[in-house]
Amino acid sequence: MSVPTPSSAGAGAGSASLRGIPVSPGAVAGPVARLAAPPRLPEVQPQVTDVDAEERAARAALADVADDLEARAAGANKTAADVLTAQAMMVRDPELANRVDQSIRGGMAAPWAVNAAFGTFRDLLASLGGYLGERAADLDDLRDRVVARLLGLPMPGLPDPGHPYVLVAEDLAPADTASLDPAKVVAILTERGGPTSHTAILARSLGVPAVVACTHVLDLEDGVNVLVDGSSGVVRIDPAADEVTAAVEAARRAREEAASVSGPGRTADGHAVKLLVNIGGLGDLDAAAAADSEGVGLFRTEFLFLDKGTEPSVEEQRDAYARVFTAFAGRRVVVRTLDAGADKPLAFAAMADEPNPALGVRGLRTSRHLPDLLERQLVALAQAAKDSEATVWVMAPMVSTPAEAGEFTRAAREHGLSVAGSMVEVPAAALRAKPVIEHCDFLSLGTNDLAQYTFAADRMLGELADLLDPWQPALLELIGRTAQAGGESGKPVGVCGEAAADPLLAPVLVGLGINSLSMAAVALNPVRAALAKLTLAQCHTLAEQALAASDAASARELVAAAVREWTSAASTE
Ligand code: PEP
Ligand code: MG
Repeated sequence: MSVPTPSSAGAGAGSASLRGIPVSPGAVAGPVARLAAPPRLPEVQPQVTDVDAEERAARAALADVADDLEARAAGANKTAADVLTAQAMMVRDPELANRVDQSIRGGMAAPWAVNAAFGTFRDLLASLGGYLGERAADLDDLRDRVVARLLGLPMPGLPDPGHPYVLVAEDLAPADTASLDPAKVVAILTERGGPTSHTAILARSLGVPAVVACTHVLDLEDGVNVLVDGSSGVVRIDPAADEVTAAVEAARRAREEAASVSGPGRTADGHAVKLLVNIGGLGDLDAAAAADSEGVGLFRTEFLFLDKGTEPSVEEQRDAYARVFTAFAGRRVVVRTLDAGADKPLAFAAMADEPNPALGVRGLRTSRHLPDLLERQLVALAQAAKDSEATVWVMAPMVSTPAEAGEFTRAAREHGLSVAGSMVEVPAAALRAKPVIEHCDFLSLGTNDLAQYTFAADRMLGELADLLDPWQPALLELIGRTAQAGGESGKPVGVCGEAAADPLLAPVLVGLGINSLSMAAVALNPVRAALAKLTLAQCHTLAEQALAASDAASARELVAAAVREWTSAASTE
């Protein structure tokens, strides 16, 4: 059996092009800079024969790392410069150097001695908790830098070559990307990751072209020029100048066409479909609020706290939520309570080691162990909502049963949060959508996880991306079943997973009975333009065709052919 997998068009780096899964549209060219993994100490520690030389090497590595941080501080804005200068001071701490020397004199080689010394300080800070406890992770980064220097390995973390670059990585963790600046990172290429991975979600939210599951991409050397096409998934190596110009121009035209329609989403015959934005941290808040949307369809609250070692206080949470509600005054904001666990680990909500975290105590299930965590979040949300002009809805992630849905709705209402719903991202909830929705005011389909659990395919595994394709008829059937429960009960059902951001799939979702689509701000215009070209009856026909298809590829082809035919007929009328 042949399984469709992303493939490289050539033999690897040095060939003309690579191919992966396109996850964020746009075309851009730039030099490659790779995200280096943290260094690993070799398994066997070498015997120290020259203690003085070992001490000198350790001190030189510490000084080099501090010099580098200070040099970067000199060219950074005030906030970043303060952070970098403080980090340089930590590396220059004489007590740290003394501990390194002591360990070397005790027989350790320099990289091991540095590792041990940083470890002692890290444990000390972590034990203090609070703000200082959170700085423990900074020490890990500094330790990795000094160890990498001693082992002759590339510096870990986001590269900083001093010019805009195409970021190449095996995959990106949410924490790697917190400080990613789209002015520096012009495109993202990863070897792993699928269409629903956080790399894909982040790239779309930043409007940075991205290709994931791109085999051989790690073979590309730093500095090699590449042309990334985030719409086709093709990565051209050392492209000719006219090829770059043509690709960038075509991407610009596509953007312009999409921008030609504005206002609330509707089909050609006026059927309303709410178009909403997905937001994570506060970094993308201004851009999201400025986008032409009717509000927020998914506020991923856990993204605010991914780097926190301890639970943020009710006041801290309230202030963060209030900023979002203020930015969206007069519009709807659907807040998802903390979805901790699996691909979104929160240090303060971590469970004991689980063999399969994606199937473990995550999302709403976290409140089985930590009921007060949800309680405090609801208190903070209610306080922020009380003084706000936004229409605040709350929903729980990873709901599996009607009882769980009911329990969450009851808790939300007790706190005065009057509109409460559940995410449908577990097949059981979709199959039993009718009894689930009886306990809710609305449902929102998280198609990223729904695909993962329907196909038993890890959403982070690029290798299984074909199974995670949102066009899979089995997934569409579960979406249709959920939407039908909404239609019968007169309650709204939306999609807030990445499926909503596909302009070809959006009319199919509307045809299945979905009332709102929530996506990264950059996807709004293409989706709005796609809906405006078709009537509701045409959307129904597309939904029937997609459901009747035997696989994802033929569903997509059938729908694309029908849309082409209708829109070209309309343009010649
Ligand atoms: C989803 O699973 O589709 C979803 C919207 O939530 P997340 O991607 O944050 O898990
Ligand atoms: Mg999810």
